Amino acid sequence: MSLDENIKRAQAYLKQFQSGPVAHRINGQDVLSADSFDTISPVDLAPLATISKGGTDEIDQAAKAAKAAFTGWSRLSGKDRRDILHNVADAIVARAEEIAFVEAMDTGQTIRFMSKAALRGAENFRFFADQAPAAADGKSLFTTGQINITSRRAIGPVGIITPWNTPFMLSTWKIAPALASGCTVVHKPAELSPLSARLLVEIAETAGVPAGVWNTVNGMGETAGRALTEHPDIKAIAFVGESNTGSHIMSQGASTLKRVHFELGGKNPVIVFKDADLERAADAAVFMIYSLNGERCTSSSRLLVEHDIYDAFCTKVAQKAATIKVGHPLDPEVTIGPLIHPIHQAKVTSYFDIATAEGALIATGGHTIDGPGGGCYVAPTLFTNATNNMRIAQEEIFGPVLTALPFESEEEAITMANDVAYGLAGYVWTENMQRGLRVSDALEAGMVWVNSENTRHLPTPFGGVKSSGIGRDGGDWSFDFYMETKNVALATGAHKIPKLGG
Ligand code: NAD
Repeated sequence: MSLDENIKRAQAYLKQFQSGPVAHRINGQDVLSADSFDTISPVDLAPLATISKGGTDEIDQAAKAAKAAFTGWSRLSGKDRRDILHNVADAIVARAEEIAFVEAMDTGQTIRFMSKAALRGAENFRFFADQAPAAADGKSLFTTGQINITSRRAIGPVGIITPWNTPFMLSTWKIAPALASGCTVVHKPAELSPLSARLLVEIAETAGVPAGVWNTVNGMGETAGRALTEHPDIKAIAFVGESNTGSHIMSQGASTLKRVHFELGGKNPVIVFKDADLERAADAAVFMIYSLNGERCTSSSRLLVEHDIYDAFCTKVAQKAATIKVGHPLDPEVTIGPLIHPIHQAKVTSYFDIATAEGALIATGGHTIDGPGGGCYVAPTLFTNATNNMRIAQEEIFGPVLTALPFESEEEAITMANDVAYGLAGYVWTENMQRGLRVSDALEAGMVWVNSENTRHLPTPFGGVKSSGIGRDGGDWSFDFYMETKNVALATGAHKIPKLGG
């Protein structure tokens, strides 16, 4: 379909958000706040929607609704929850185009990737739905005179706080396992891109998720988000966002002893040895930094290349980057759309001056682009001649910006890779499998891919170490977070009980 046709479709899908403030969804009802805020599209900076601005009161209503719904939802059989969550997946697929178009206009992410992200959201629901029937199962642990039986049960109502970068996919990734576990949910989407969260909760209710089980409250992080993390009825917070915000949430949740799960920032190395398949390595490095506008937590934002091939490899990457099409997110030919907001664009582009002031070179990019609608377009950028102590090698830029650093030895590559605050993901390229294993073992990262870009197998653990997070998602790890494990010990005979007193 052409860009013009796509724009018309998007306008039709966006109309539903333009007839008045977008309401919260609490206990199966639309709830409006007295206050509201406007969102803009990163494409043309024009107002996209007015959103109800929730705070302490709306969060309190939603938490109470989630608490009231908890008993019913958690006592449903796992099979019933599985069936309902499969209905949600079906309903997502049925509205996948609408979700993708709304997401593209709300976030600036291109339709090329957003159509897949919508379908991946459905896959997340199916994957966790299928595990609901066995989620409460545990182990039997035997010792002389005693049988122990462990089981799991849902922790209670939980808060889920999501960021703006790929909000639909990330929301499904967090909410689906919570519901499959038997938890009820209060979701606080990011204020910069809240529209697909509204579609998602509507879809869920139509698909049979009972009122109160899934509540969505919009608002600012410092007010609505904060109130959610402080609410005594909310037993756990699953958060995806910046490392700094994670610190705030941890202290905000301290007085109510919140269980927290954090998926935070990254400055992920891709390490390329000279024996690697260099064409594949270059394609993967380019994909991992320039797809999703570079606004991706697992982006390969540091390119560590063995010294002998550094110049040639950087030239190859720069050539590929320079031919990536930047433009309207609904253009099917476009790979990089506008960044989420002018403030974020200014942050990303500020690193162009920082790079040159630090003595690095700009091999390609390093400028904004005057794209359709005048939105927040940035050229795919590669910094070379960098050293690991530079800010461009240490700080999360969260845009289509890559910093390339040479290394002399395997040992130096590992030292450089680990010499950052973050530890989310790492990528290693070598044909020497022993080296691949050694390096992946030595990397301080929650996830390492060898000879691959980030391709997810949903049962595997997802998460980071150091400033990149606490806890793991995926497979059974998600259920461990949303559930409490209980042990029941049964005496199998008349063992000796210590006698105290008469
Ligand atoms: P952010 O931390 O600014 O905001 C994320 C969410 O937290 C928003 O909903 C916001 O309203 C809320 N929030 C802000 N302050 C809060 C507070 N004091 N209490 C409660 N909630 C609060 O992050 P962002 O800018 O929206 O997203 C980008 C960041 O997310 C990047 O650092 C990126 O690496 C990270 N991210 C990580 C992963 C991962 O899986 N590790 C995935 C995607 C994004």
